[in-house]
Amino acid sequence: MLDGYGREIDYLRVSVTDRCNLRCRYCMPATGVKQKSHEEILRLEEIVSLLEVAVGLGFKRVRFTGGEPLVRKNFSYLVARTASLPGIEDLALTTNGTLLAEQAAELRRAGLKRVNISLDTLDGEKFARLTRGGNLERVKEGVAAALRYKLEPVKLNVVITRGFNEDEIEAFAALTRQEPVHVRFIELMPLGQATELNGFLPATEVLARLEQSVPLEPAAVPGNGPARYYRLAGGKGTIGFIAAISQCFCARCNRLRLTADGKLRPCLESEHEVDVRGPLRAGATREELAALFRAAVAAKPARHRLGRRTPRQDARAMWQIGG
Ligand code: SAM
Ligand code: SF4
Repeated sequence: MLDGYGREIDYLRVSVTDRCNLRCRYCMPATGVKQKSHEEILRLEEIVSLLEVAVGLGFKRVRFTGGEPLVRKNFSYLVARTASLPGIEDLALTTNGTLLAEQAAELRRAGLKRVNISLDTLDGEKFARLTRGGNLERVKEGVAAALRYKLEPVKLNVVITRGFNEDEIEAFAALTRQEPVHVRFIELMPLGQATELNGFLPATEVLARLEQSVPLEPAAVPGNGPARYYRLAGGKGTIGFIAAISQCFCARCNRLRLTADGKLRPCLESEHEVDVRGPLRAGATREELAALFRAAVAAKPARHRLGRRTPRQDARAMWQIGG
């Protein structure tokens, strides 16, 4: 489907839950997270019905995210149902990796193709501090399981923040020498607990710092996103940069989001949403639901305004939207 700016929108990011077993400081508040009731969250069958509509409209690529998707009961059932939809070419997952070791085999069997694992530090103590209690070893086991079960390309998402993990840029890059992992440095966005952008470090600066210590060659990695990739000479993996703020890539945007509570979200940043849960539960036909998808695609703005305006304190955060 083409949007109002001639962009082909064929990639749906589906948030399957607003719950999470971690509390990353830039994402979730320590306390007082008001989660939706079970009734407000889409049931798995409802997500499948909406995916059927999306596939009928030409969506070919799906990513499950959250919250933490792997805390959702029967998640592999959703993966299996989605994988069996005709026309799905790519089926991916974004996860914090803590529950991946025990689920990777089942997810692979269900038809999941690949995973992105979020990991911002390689230091166990810093990891526990950032995530308010998370265990880095569990994530490492998750990464190993992703490689073992060939959920590839395995991408590691690293949000770089000044004063927290900027000293680990080289260590993350070094991971790509021996392992076929694709490390992606991501700019902190003014969402959730990061509304003030304290600690923002532009991706260009991360790249410049890395280039000072090691030579990098351009590389290519399959995916649906805007990362620019490089490789260490002889490295098995790659190093990518995602500059959502400093070099907005909205002109190439190809995605629509479905939140866990059943809203289509045309843009990560804009608060505009199209409700599909209400109509679905009220018995809307497939054609009526398709019209809502078309309306959401038509409502996509030319570009986000992150970094150009004061973020609203009441705006929905990544764990609510589906990062
Ligand atoms: N829980 C899963 C995870 O952590 O991968 C999936 C959901 S999480 C919201 C998806 C991604 O959003 C993570 O990589 C996380 O680091 C990123 N994220 C959350 N808040 C962010 C922010 N303010 N700026 C940049 N990335 C953010
Ligand atoms: Fe949970 Fe992911 Fe947000 Fe961390 S970034 S709190 S793991 S949803």
